[in-house]
Formats: sequence, structure tokens, C-alpha cells
Amino acid sequence: QVNAELWSAYLYLSMSVDAEAKGFKGFGNWFYVQFREEQDHARILMNYVLSRGGRVTLAPIAEVKTTWNNQLEAFEDTLTHERKVTAMINNLYDLAIEEKDHATSSMLKWFIDEQVEEEENASTIIESLRQVEGNKLGLYMIDKELAARTYAQAAPLAGKE
Ligand code: MG
Repeated sequence: QVNAELWSAYLYLSMSVDAEAKGFKGFGNWFYVQFREEQDHARILMNYVLSRGGRVTLAPIAEVKTTWNNQLEAFEDTLTHERKVTAMINNLYDLAIEEKDHATSSMLKWFIDEQVEEEENASTIIESLRQVEGNKLGLYMIDKELAARTYAQAAPLAGKE
């Protein structure tokens, strides 16, 4: 799961630089904030494993796509990807329940709630992008809106770094 979160970070960084290169500074910013959040997700999991006396071994991060035809395609990929991550988190939660590992179940609850937000965010932006499809002014306005997103450290990391 740590690797999956870091792969997510890498995917969003790739989307960020692709958007910026095409002049979409706001989209670039949104994906860059997403990149930072995914690194937090990996950190939370690593902190947890270490706090339980486990070892973290980092594996190579697989390649990511480097270009998207348009911002709608990038957000469709985002939603597809986040749905996959949700399924992975749900599997981990099922496993924790099966193992009667209450501490891990409790830790994973934050991720379950986070995934609801991740899917909702992507869906909302997809809807907006569909509404303005083919309208450059609309796209420009969404870009302006996404420029306002700011990074906030994930709650479970408070006081830990
Ligand atoms: Mg994540």
C-alpha cells in the first residue's frame, strides 16, 4: 500500500507537469497538491508500521503515463485510479478485521473516509469539465478555480514530523 500511495504521488506529479506544460497552471497546482497528499498517505502508513515495530522496505515505483489528451481525460484517469485505491484499502480493512487486528482497522478508517473524499473531488471536477466541454472560457475558469487549492498536511501526521 505504501508503494501504491507513492505510485499515486508519481502519477499526480506527472499530471501536474503535463498540465503546466500545456499552460494550465491551475490544473497543475491541483495535481501538485494531490502529489503532496499522496506522499502524506505513504508517510502515515510507514509511521504506523514503524510504530508497531515493523520494518518498511521500499520497492521501485512503476512507470506512469506522461501525457493526457485533455484535462477531462486526466480527471477520468484520476477517478479510475482512486476507485482502485479504494478497493485496495477496503481489502486491507477486510484483512485487518479477519485478523482481529483492531489497531490496524482503526488506522485504516481514516483512509476509508479519505477515499470517499478523493472520489467525490474527482467526480465533481469531471462534472464541471463535461459541462464546459469545447468551451475555452469555461475551461479557463475551472483552471482559475483549481489554482486556489492549497496543501494542508493530513491530520494523522499532526505533531509527527
Ligand atoms: Mg492516497
